[in-house]
Amino acid sequence: MNQDEYFLRAAIQLAREGMTTGQGGPFGAVIVRNGEIVGQGCNRVTSTNDPTAHAEVVAIRDACQKLGTFQLEGCTLYASCEPCPMCLGAIYWARPSRIVYGAFHSDAGRAGFDDQFIYEELDKPREQRHIPMHQLLHEEADAVFTEWIAFENRIHY
Ligand SMILES: [Zn+2]
Repeated sequence: MNQDEYFLRAAIQLAREGMTTGQGGPFGAVIVRNGEIVGQGCNRVTSTNDPTAHAEVVAIRDACQKLGTFQLEGCTLYASCEPCPMCLGAIYWARPSRIVYGAFHSDAGRAGFDDQFIYEELDKPREQRHIPMHQLLHEEADAVFTEWIAFENRIHY
């Protein structure tokens, strides 16, 4: 069997199991390196009261814990559904080499998981977004970056 299909099916199965065991929405993710699963997860938003506990984020945390790293170079992330904007951001920060997904985000939208709204928000200017954003204390906040640049124990990522 095609390796990508094999691991994507594992992610789809996690989505189904997470749903039927009451952990959260029907989403699963698996992270693979060198043909081996190094992290996995299903959506746990409702069971852990954590709106960020999407399958991809849970799997990234699992893989990074197991591998003892904050970067997932050389890994492939398999997601039962196309990642939402939050997960896509988390995936870019974790830097796996590839993403393989099953359902489209429009399929999730049909099931009531509408991340299209967030995509539209990202395209809007800050002042037109649904949640108001107020900018204050620029100089004081920006000073931390100057300190970071000079910080000797800085770990680049
Ligand atoms: Zn997500």
